Amino acid sequence: MHHKQTLMPANSQQSESNHPFSAEERQHAIGQLVQDEGRVVTQKLVTRFGVSRMTIHRDLDALAAAGLVRKVRGGAVPATDAIQPAAPRTATCAMCNLPVSDRSVMMIHSRSRGKLCACCPHCGLMMLGNLDDVEAALARDFLFGRMVNAFDASYVIDADVRLCCVPSTICFATAADAERFQRGFGGRVTTYATAQALLHAGHRKQL
Ligand SMILES: [Zn+2]
Ligand SMILES: [Zn+2]
Repeated sequence: MHHKQTLMPANSQQSESNHPFSAEERQHAIGQLVQDEGRVVTQKLVTRFGVSRMTIHRDLDALAAAGLVRKVRGGAVPATDAIQPAAPRTATCAMCNLPVSDRSVMMIHSRSRGKLCACCPHCGLMMLGNLDDVEAALARDFLFGRMVNAFDASYVIDADVRLCCVPSTICFATAADAERFQRGFGGRVTTYATAQALLHAGHRKQL
């Protein structure tokens, strides 16, 4: 994390001694520093850029407003650190009680039961099948990590990728993504409705 490479564009580096950074250049550089170092300390920025504390605070405010950093006591950290994972690390699946992996999480909002986490779409779809007051359901897209509408998503069931539950049920934002994945890892590409029916049928068979 601690590398000493220069973060300024070459041209501003050359002119540094004669011309102070423009606010834009300084903010860009601070944004880079936060990304590279994981944390910046206000006092060090004051020294580094030769500007007042107030100016650094304004820079950090601007970067924070742009969603690039989060101000913390004495400095700033990357905004990505500020975004809470959709599921707290300690969350357990409301269906099977396994710890919820952020990578495969499903979030379900039920009018009567509030926000429910599922360890993976397998449990998520089972839960959705058992709830009749669902307001929204989001699933983590396996390829890109975005949360997508669970009802519009595609699923690959029983691919050669192990998640927490069997058969593995993996969510994709689009059918094309699911098909590409299926060609590499096997399994069956389904819509939400088909996945739902298959999983429920499978569970009935086991009973
Ligand atoms: Zn589960
Ligand atoms: Zn699971």
